[in-house]
Amino acid sequence: MAASETNAEWSERDARLINAARKLAARHMVRDGDGFKLSKHDPADIGAFEDGEHPLIPDAAAGSRKEATKDLLAEGVRLLSRMQDMLYAQNRWSVLLVFQAMDAAGKDGVIKHVMSGVNPQGCEVHSFKQPSAEELDHDFMWRCTRLAPRRGMIGIFNRSYYEEVLVVRVHRGYLEGQQLPRELVTDGIWDERFKDIRSYERYMARNGTIVRKFFLNVSRDEQKKRFLERIDDPAKNWKFSAADVAERAHWDEYMDAYQDMIRNTAADHAPWSVVPADNKWYTRLVVAATIIAALASVDLHYPSLDEAGRAKLADARAQLMAE
Ligand code: ATP
Ligand code: MG
Repeated sequence: MAASETNAEWSERDARLINAARKLAARHMVRDGDGFKLSKHDPADIGAFEDGEHPLIPDAAAGSRKEATKDLLAEGVRLLSRMQDMLYAQNRWSVLLVFQAMDAAGKDGVIKHVMSGVNPQGCEVHSFKQPSAEELDHDFMWRCTRLAPRRGMIGIFNRSYYEEVLVVRVHRGYLEGQQLPRELVTDGIWDERFKDIRSYERYMARNGTIVRKFFLNVSRDEQKKRFLERIDDPAKNWKFSAADVAERAHWDEYMDAYQDMIRNTAADHAPWSVVPADNKWYTRLVVAATIIAALASVDLHYPSLDEAGRAKLADARAQLMAE
């Protein structure tokens, strides 16, 4: 659907931005996981920006590219903010954005920058860390599903039920801690979880939730660089955790788990975006573009009043004027 076909009557500039967002989003989107190979996705990819070739920044030379893309992101953020306002007013659709990544891939920064223009009342972020005893006493999706966004809202999961086929798969010990009846823990458990996740996301989509999932694909080298920065820069010390360094030893196992996860859970109604994450400015643009494209894919508009509603407004107006 072309942008101009949406009911929102976007300005020409908005429509162009939406079309550019669609193109950029599509470049990194996996809608069908069959045969997906993570190794084919370059974490340092900067797409069409390599040669400054982009419809919205026609001749950005390498030097000015940073500025130009900053402006572009700012524009995207403004558009996103208007779309979110309509989403909220319309109160029909909801949006679920899932972020998964290795440490230091930039999840927090992306969420902060991309959602910076969005009204805090229309957006909620939930971070999922090591599960509590209460959480472990429930089914594996419980702690997430109870926080799914209500209509009109954008819900962000900073980590999610996908940890259940990632960290829990890499460290089998976590599975033991999950209080599952023994006979239910078989070699088929990961496939069962994939199946359950697919069903859940289809269910959500059928109920009006737009699901978009992001894997921030950082390279092992770039992660090392960022860890070193966290160690060397006192202002970043708080972000550093020695456990994160230990986790690097399992890098290949994690990559296998991510690949399998994307193969098994990418779907048309719940696609994965494999976002190159070695360049933060590019990561942010791709994520913003993907959310804009997602919102542009549904018929967003402010609710309009019927005749009776308009009559009520006229009455209220008359009352106010008579005071
Ligand atoms: P940051 O480090 O930027 O604060 P973070 O998301 O890495 O953000 P941490 O508290 O460092 O937060 O880490 C959360 C940890 O909890 C991660 O290592 C993650 O793999 C782990 N975790 C999340 N869900 C589960 C789960 N279901 N079972 C076991 N571990 C989990
Ligand atoms: Mg961490």
